[in-house]
Amino acid sequence: MGNVLIIAEHKDGVLKKASLAAFTFAKDFAAKTSGEFHILVIGHDVAAVADQACCYGAAKVHLADNQGLGAYLAESHAAVAAKVAKDISAEVVGATSTAMSKDLLPRLAAKLEAGMASDILGVNDAGHFLRPVWAGNAVVAVEITTAIKVLSIRGTEFEPAVKGDAAGDKVDVEVVVDFDGLQKRFLKFEEVKSERPELTEAAAIVSGGRGTKGEEGFKLVEGLADLLGAAVGATRAAVDAGWVPNDLQVGQTGKVVAPDLYMAIGISGAIQHLAGMKSSKTIVAINKDEEAPIFTVADYGLVADLFKAVPELVEEIKKAKA
Ligand SMILES: Cc1cc2nc3c(=O)[nH]c(=O)nc-3n(C[C@H](O)[C@H](O)[C@H](O)COP(=O)(O)OP(=O)(O)OC[C@H]3O[C@@H](n4cnc5c(N)ncnc54)[C@H](O)[C@@H]3O)c2cc1C
Repeated sequence: MGNVLIIAEHKDGVLKKASLAAFTFAKDFAAKTSGEFHILVIGHDVAAVADQACCYGAAKVHLADNQGLGAYLAESHAAVAAKVAKDISAEVVGATSTAMSKDLLPRLAAKLEAGMASDILGVNDAGHFLRPVWAGNAVVAVEITTAIKVLSIRGTEFEPAVKGDAAGDKVDVEVVVDFDGLQKRFLKFEEVKSERPELTEAAAIVSGGRGTKGEEGFKLVEGLADLLGAAVGATRAAVDAGWVPNDLQVGQTGKVVAPDLYMAIGISGAIQHLAGMKSSKTIVAINKDEEAPIFTVADYGLVADLFKAVPELVEEIKKAKA
């Protein structure tokens, strides 16, 4: 019996959309292995998040609510998740691959003495986990031989789960963490506040690259994004040049995204960038070089100077909206 435990992510009392991909994976995996799918919510004052996690097909939603868990720390959250994993005899413990789960899951795997596969794309008929290597240019099948397996699940590969199943039982978790004995203390969280949607949650993203030639040119990308209500993304070249903060980087060493619309402006389409956006549903590229590799993945390509094309596009969108 393959019970699956998914750690749900949340922010400001709201379940993160990113977790819905892991729910889909877990529901399918549990169905195939005749197990149960469970959800774990960890935090302080997060009963509302547990309520939001109902009806996605989980047999149980476990709620670990404790003042000491109010601020995320890998040590305390891993201790709670390890206990619940053991209590429910989980075969698989995981979460959608995000900045938080990249921090949490390796520690959890070590605690459980479990093998781990990161960024998995699916499971083959032999029960091996598929994961990308070489910037997504090859996929390997990984066999994990430990009784418990820890997985991070690539969010762009699984449709977000939809509500419609039974609520599942809500279970309070007894939190037995020695908070005073933790080797780290949470001091403060400096959040970058933005009116724009979060990159990994956005339905549309407008990204800019070195072709924008600088902070001033990059403002064209931002203006187009704001007009479309889209998130702003960037290549590593734009980030390394200091034109935009590094949390906007899309790609192998940045964020992996798959929005409905991805607009690549002045971006060549290096494999490391494609690794982070090629699963987007519709890709639009504007580049003055018709040989640019971005056009090999683009659904719509415009060979043009972005400094002319983007202002024209903005004008046309404004007219259409008027
Ligand atoms: C280990 C490793 C990890 C990496 N991780 C990432 C990653 O996560 N994300 C990432 O993005 N990169 C990553 N890179 C870097 C990657 O290899 C590329 O260098 C980078 O993506 C290039 O960014 P770019 O497309 O903005 O710049 P360039 O490759 O320089 O392309 C700029 C493009 O703009 C076009 N252009 C110029 N002027 C105009 C104009 N006026 N109008 C229209 N088009 C114009 C040019 O034709 C060109 O195609 C990584 C590299 C390594 C080695």
